[in-house]
Amino acid sequence: MSESTARVAIVTGAARGIGAATALRLAADGFAVAVIDLDESSTAGTVEAIEAAGGRALGVGADVGDPEQVQAAVDRVAAELGPPVVLVNNAGVTRDNMLFKMTDADWDLVMHVHLRGSFLMTRACQKYMVDAKWGRVVNLSSTSALGNRGQANYATAKAGLQGFTKTLAIELGKFGVTANAIAPGFIQTEMTKATAERIGRDWQEYVAERAAAIPVARAGVPEDIAHTVSFFASEGAGFVSGQVVYVAGGPRN
Ligand code: NAP
Repeated sequence: MSESTARVAIVTGAARGIGAATALRLAADGFAVAVIDLDESSTAGTVEAIEAAGGRALGVGADVGDPEQVQAAVDRVAAELGPPVVLVNNAGVTRDNMLFKMTDADWDLVMHVHLRGSFLMTRACQKYMVDAKWGRVVNLSSTSALGNRGQANYATAKAGLQGFTKTLAIELGKFGVTANAIAPGFIQTEMTKATAERIGRDWQEYVAERAAAIPVARAGVPEDIAHTVSFFASEGAGFVSGQVVYVAGGPRN
């Protein structure tokens, strides 16, 4: 695919972790990729890695929960890369605490980024997909959607994203747009490193302990999730919509 005809994908929270691996994978698949994260300067590493591999990328700073920043970011992507027809709602935060200690701010921030962020980004991008009569939305849920101690806010948001995904599939299907969700299990990233740190655990020991409880006997890596995104974004996946795939090294659903 030449630069001028490459379809455009947006990946949010793509400065690092699962988002960065996904951005790199979609670029390798032939998409021009907009790398969105809170701070534009933090996207440089991902953009440079895509360009070094011969791909095309644009780094954009935006808080996905802020409607003006989202509109400005999507407008810029459309103007500088082309109409975005793939959207990966990956940006995320955790503010874990037992319910009795969870603050209003812990609750609101998690809803702001995961739910409001995915809603605003999808609403801003859908018109390009509808115009193109082709689109792919992939939302990052989590095994925590099934319930997880200390994550009342995060589990609620991740379960909410599954309902959001199924509704998008129903509303947008007739325009050639699919929507699916990926629910990762334990993936080694800064997010899970921060959790280990917060509970005072040595990272390597923590990974080994988590891996021992996973049927495939290893912890996940960002590329495991990127691979699944690549499938959902592919041409051949056009009849797969409204699904939640648990990518967790075992069933857990
Ligand atoms: P990560 O390493 O913490 O990366 C998340 C990225 O999102 C960061 O670069 C962060 O930027 C960015 N971000 C946060 N708030 C944002 C906002 N309002 N607007 C734009 N960007 C924002 O996390 P990860 O582990 O790769 O997780 C990626 C996604 O997978 C998340 O949705 C997460 O909930 C989900 N997930 C992860 C796991 C896991 O085991 N790692 C399991 C299940 C689901 P800053 O650094 O500036 O905050």
